[in-house]
Amino acid sequence: MLTTENLARSFGGVFAVDDVTTSVSPGELRGIIGPNGAGKSTLFNLIGGHLAPSHGRITYRGESLAGMAPHRRAREGIAIVFQGARLFRGMTALENVMVGAHAMTHHGFVSAALRLPGHRREERLIAERAEAALERVGLTDFTDVQAESLPLGQQRRLQVARALCGEPALLLLDEPASGLRQQERQSLAALLHELHEEGITMLLIEHDVGFVMNLADRITVLDLGKVIAEGTPVEVSRDPQVISAYLGRENSGQENSSQENSGQENSNAPSR
Ligand code: ADP
Ligand code: MG
Repeated sequence: MLTTENLARSFGGVFAVDDVTTSVSPGELRGIIGPNGAGKSTLFNLIGGHLAPSHGRITYRGESLAGMAPHRRAREGIAIVFQGARLFRGMTALENVMVGAHAMTHHGFVSAALRLPGHRREERLIAERAEAALERVGLTDFTDVQAESLPLGQQRRLQVARALCGEPALLLLDEPASGLRQQERQSLAALLHELHEEGITMLLIEHDVGFVMNLADRITVLDLGKVIAEGTPVEVSRDPQVISAYLGRENSGQENSSQENSGQENSNAPSR
């Protein structure tokens, strides 16, 4: 589904992503973990086309993504829920999802503004799609609620609904559980598990190691831009390099994460 070969990106001579070679199989749920600054978000921006690689290649469904704009990658089925993504204020849940869906259609905002032929039909289609996406994430009862008034857990589900509108084949989620309470985390995990069962390939960045351990088929561990381990959750959690680079520093945090916490952002995040 996706391969990266010697993928690298530097900022001012420092490599944030440094020769990352990996491949993700269709239907796989891949966890990506690593300390703050490991290069996880940069990797997503490279896959989404929001950043150009310094060198290396990304191949999606057998085709190179080199030079392809983000909106075209989105149309090819790559959807990203960005770290700390915001909703549109003053819009309902449905409108928020519809805005996401607009970006995926051929006519888009320009024709909506100019009222070109085909617009009304498309508008209805988009509303239907958005409603279906809201149903998929369990937000049917909140369609007409102002998005910003929803609890954080439901706002995250709304972000997922927005991404689902384009019927993605590859869904990238950057720390979707951060700041959520334990119960919201569990319910988000259940949703991601369901989407996984439906066959969507997912890349899941998460700070809460426990969260990915229970969900992922395989895990890639990044540190200072490099892959330091890759394997099943059990393999990775036993890897001495991972334990010293990441899990070792997290031990106390992992125990905390299984208890009700106050929903603090990355309360168990390692610092460097
Ligand atoms: P993570 O998501 O794993 O916390 P990031 O990918 O956000 O890590 O960042 C990796 C490194 O790249 C960090 O040292 C960060 O400061 C740097 N970095 C990321 N984006 C930029 C940018 N746009 N300009 C300069 N440095 C950046
Ligand atoms: Mg990040």
